[in-house]
Amino acid sequence: MTLHFRRSDTIIRTYRADSLVGLKKEMKRRRGALGMVTTSYPWSWNTSIDWFDFGANLGVDLTLAITLKLPSWSPGWLCPWGEQKEWRRFLHALTHHEQGHIEIHKKEARVMYRRLCKATSSTVEAVYESERSRIRKLNKAYDKKTYGTGTPYGPIAIRLENARQ
Ligand SMILES: [Zn+2]
Repeated sequence: MTLHFRRSDTIIRTYRADSLVGLKKEMKRRRGALGMVTTSYPWSWNTSIDWFDFGANLGVDLTLAITLKLPSWSPGWLCPWGEQKEWRRFLHALTHHEQGHIEIHKKEARVMYRRLCKATSSTVEAVYESERSRIRKLNKAYDKKTYGTGTPYGPIAIRLENARQ
């Protein structure tokens, strides 16, 4: 009976625009998936110990597998300082936001694991499904909240105040 965390490498998505305005357009064109945390919860359980299904003896293995996707952009040497600075700010805000998703998943995977271990062989599948949807909702609420209030680095969007138009 174990709980594992598996973090795969960060996937970097490279953008080629030569200005901040162009970058914003390119991100929109490429369907706007700026950064992303994808997770899966492979699991298994067995009742080898618990012959009569009195519960509490399920052998549960749960893995939380996390992949982080982030954008990459290299402002050319002609790119004004204000645009370079805004890009860096945006990347910090985005990374901070995605890290928040990872923390939620890590914390809630522990809760999920405890609940799975307490389940019986007749309830364990339902517990798994309800935990998945509970964690999904927490992440949605987190998105709603942080897109509204931003991060310590500001909003999770590229601001064009200092950009060449
Ligand atoms: Zn998010």
